Amino acid sequence: MNKFYIGVDLEGVACAVGIPGEGMGNGANYAFAAREALREANACARALFDGGADEVIVWDNHGSGVNLDYDEVDPRCRIALGSGFRTRFPGIDGSFGGVLFIGYHAREGTGRAVLAHTYNSRVYQRYAVNGQEMGEMDIDAAYAGEHGVPVLFCASDAACVAQAKERFPWAETVVTKEGWGWNAAVSLHPREAQKRIYEGVRRAMERRGEMQPYRIPGPFEFTVRFKRMDAAAQAPLYDRERNPFACPDPFTRTGWLDRIGQVMD
Ligand SMILES: [Zn+2]
Repeated sequence: MNKFYIGVDLEGVACAVGIPGEGMGNGANYAFAAREALREANACARALFDGGADEVIVWDNHGSGVNLDYDEVDPRCRIALGSGFRTRFPGIDGSFGGVLFIGYHAREGTGRAVLAHTYNSRVYQRYAVNGQEMGEMDIDAAYAGEHGVPVLFCASDAACVAQAKERFPWAETVVTKEGWGWNAAVSLHPREAQKRIYEGVRRAMERRGEMQPYRIPGPFEFTVRFKRMDAAAQAPLYDRERNPFACPDPFTRTGWLDRIGQVMD
């Protein structure tokens, strides 16, 4: 059980704010965010190994999943990258001792949160399971939870960390920045954020016995609200009987699933 999985997104790292109208975009702040995500992931990995981990996988999952400078990833790690996986945390199973979130962001619709969205801010307005709002971090945590793998740690802006504390109150957290808007933040210095992440993950490893999987009781009624009617109509969403999700209104699709991961089957 000394295997760990670090999910790495970009929006929540120190000094990442993206570009108005473009999300994270692809400019100078994107390049910085990719470097900072690498350094924060490395601080996390180093703390895991120093705390007794034997195996760590770093999962590069922003956009098309090709963001980090892989030469510079802690060489003890393996790296999951690219797009088209039909699962979250590719290859995760009950042999993993925990998942950790670096650079994730608050759910769509959150105020004072940097780049808050759910999967794609141009496509989705709302994603809910059994009436509860779900962001990417919640979905990924629930996916790990279905395999019995606990959530250990989250580092992100204050809004995302508040959402982590609400859903996984046992986990250790680090606030990298205070979001003042979609593209505005007062951030820790990157080196200070990396230092706090190292210390926070060390604390999480010391408290491993208290860490729990994030489990939502099933079955699961998924509600996906889209921003455009055509996107809602075309979305390839199938329920547990392999029937297309229902359309209660032109922007919304709903369906019942037996597992959270089934939405990606
Ligand atoms: Zn992202």
